Amino acid sequence: MKLATTTPIRIERLRVVLRGAVQGVGFRPAVYRLAEKLRLAGWVRNSGEGLEIEVEGGTEQLDRFLDQLKSARPPAAVVTTEEVSRVAPAGGVWFEILPSDQNVSRTAAVLPDLATCPECLRELFDPANRRSGYAFTNCTFCGPRYTILLDIPYDRPNTTLRSFVLCPACRREYESAHDRRFHAQPNACPACGPHLWSVPEPEKGVEVVAHAAEALARGEIVALKGVGGFQLLVDARNSPAVMRLRARKHREEKPFALLMPSLAVVRQSCVVSAAEEELLASPAAPIVLLRPNEGYDLAPEVAKSSPYLGVMLPYSPLHHVLMARYPFPVVATSGNRAEEPIAIDNEEACKHLKDIADIFVLHNRPIVRPCDDSVARVSCGRPQVLRRARGYAPLPVLAPRDLPPVLAVGGHLKNTVAIALGRQVFLSQHVGDLDSIDSRLAFERAIEDLCRLYRFEPKLVACDLHPDYASTQWAMDSGLPVVQVQHHHAHVASCAAENGLETEYLGVAWDGTGFGLDGTIWGGEFFLARPEGFERIAHLRPFRLPGGEAAIRECSRSAASLVSETCGLGHAERIAGAGVRTLLERGINAPFTSSVGRLFDAMAFLSGVADQNRFEGQAAMCLERAIGGLRTAESYEVECRNGIGDWAPLTDSLLADQRAGLDVPRIAARFHNALANWIVAVAQTADVRDVVLSGGVFQNAYLTERTSALLEANGFRVFTHHQVPANDGGISLGQAVLAGRFES
Ligand SMILES: [Zn+2]
Ligand SMILES: [Zn+2]
Ligand SMILES: [Zn+2]
Repeated sequence: MKLATTTPIRIERLRVVLRGAVQGVGFRPAVYRLAEKLRLAGWVRNSGEGLEIEVEGGTEQLDRFLDQLKSARPPAAVVTTEEVSRVAPAGGVWFEILPSDQNVSRTAAVLPDLATCPECLRELFDPANRRSGYAFTNCTFCGPRYTILLDIPYDRPNTTLRSFVLCPACRREYESAHDRRFHAQPNACPACGPHLWSVPEPEKGVEVVAHAAEALARGEIVALKGVGGFQLLVDARNSPAVMRLRARKHREEKPFALLMPSLAVVRQSCVVSAAEEELLASPAAPIVLLRPNEGYDLAPEVAKSSPYLGVMLPYSPLHHVLMARYPFPVVATSGNRAEEPIAIDNEEACKHLKDIADIFVLHNRPIVRPCDDSVARVSCGRPQVLRRARGYAPLPVLAPRDLPPVLAVGGHLKNTVAIALGRQVFLSQHVGDLDSIDSRLAFERAIEDLCRLYRFEPKLVACDLHPDYASTQWAMDSGLPVVQVQHHHAHVASCAAENGLETEYLGVAWDGTGFGLDGTIWGGEFFLARPEGFERIAHLRPFRLPGGEAAIRECSRSAASLVSETCGLGHAERIAGAGVRTLLERGINAPFTSSVGRLFDAMAFLSGVADQNRFEGQAAMCLERAIGGLRTAESYEVECRNGIGDWAPLTDSLLADQRAGLDVPRIAARFHNALANWIVAVAQTADVRDVVLSGGVFQNAYLTERTSALLEANGFRVFTHHQVPANDGGISLGQAVLAGRFES
């Protein structure tokens, strides 16, 4: 008889550290369940670095654990790095969830705010559920995160829920590793959590949400305290109501975003692809730019000059219950006046918005930091963020390599700030234009906030070259070593960084205006990025901007400038008047620019689609919109000689077409195609395979897609923005990366 021999099982212990957005997503219970299933001993805990796990057991089981850990990841988790090492076995038979470790460095990524998950939604509309209709329902898969976070690590005492004591039922959920609400930090119910009220109060017996729905039906403006700040809501089908909101908010033409009750309603107004539906319904739930259907049933004042409608779906339980009461598209715009920061505090909102809103829907869950709704769209089949705030901030972007501790303070418009911690660059949420005192304060708070959360002490500050930017001035006054980074270098470096590129690429930086290395205003640049730095190998032929800043608003000025060169000053005068002629003639207050953004303004004016930029990029949007559904390869020509792209032949052809009565869609397409062809022509002269497209001009979907397609057809690899905006919202990332490179 043969005795059964068993090889002794070798017991080992592994230590796993996961970095990224791994806290507050239900990761610990997932690890716990996996370890229990595989009968492994050890523990899991949140630390300042991320998630730490130690598991002990047989080699085979441990391999299985590492294997299955990937598929066990909760959907909202973002793992940037995974580190596995062997440690000495410590014995033990249990697997436990340990309290958070407070004593290590704070590099754990904080999660962004997540849209209501399907399970919570089901409970919300289940009359038998104890959270039925409760506006603060959440679980480990959904709910507020960054906007309620006071400190890291992400635990309940470090959130604004700390003053709400869990009731016995909520505590049971919170403490049970098998519950969906295990360690759901914002866990709450009607018995123990935050509550809603309204000003003015509803009549007796009427609920707050029903009261708000009635106000919307009457065409009134509702200020709603949301996840990242106040939103102003008004019925989007009611023209007088939308116009009243425009007048009270001092917002002439900039398109309003829309909140729509369901995908079915979105489909009634817009053309929506599968990728766009996925983006709308994603946990980030951004405003998605969509092409409107012909004859959609919305007030025309919602978005007159944009080729797109910005649409979002309900992302908080409060939105869901309101939309259930009022199932129609509503305008949902940031609760602020003009370009001021979004209001987050009850008192401040009631004061600042009192002349705008007719009713206020308030609650007592404090918002720690403002987070506007993010704006995104689908470009070349992938999501592309245009304004990065709620749902995305503060997820880090991974740089190609370790960076020194840089604080990057961004540009002037659409400002964001960033800090570099190793390879991770943490970008703030969208701060906005730094024109007002209030937005400068918000900018300073964003810096202070990021540095405090991550216990970050910058060793140097990166800023723009422009001496008049409020961000540059802040950097100069900071007392720290300063690295000034040229605006368009920062643009292309940000796009390269988020795509994992460092050098050896052609960077195309096209935008409105930025301070150039030669003191002129740049905005139509091509750079060869090499290890030793950037070489400007091509740019748009410079032209004068008569009246400087005024020319950014009035498109006739850029048009007159081009025409003065091609047809003479008399023609320029007929376009923009004698005053502008004088400026051009004498060259006074008429700085030179190579800006493609301003070229768009001029062409939008000459083709008759726009005469003003009442908000940034308006004329360019009109010109893009003019193309409509037309697809043609017909093109004007940007004449490219010695690296200078001449707009003169293009201007002549456009004017000739205009005189001949060619239809506007064709003119607009020929102009866009000329720019795409020019990029391909420059790329063919450069000895690189990779082309990076950045700058505000590449928010133009037609141009970006056309250029990418042509470049790819010619054998180039094309890199565009997806995680950070192509506009100045991405500048801080580029500054951080470049300042780091110069330093190291
Ligand atoms: Zn949930
Ligand atoms: Zn409770
Ligand atoms: Zn820019």
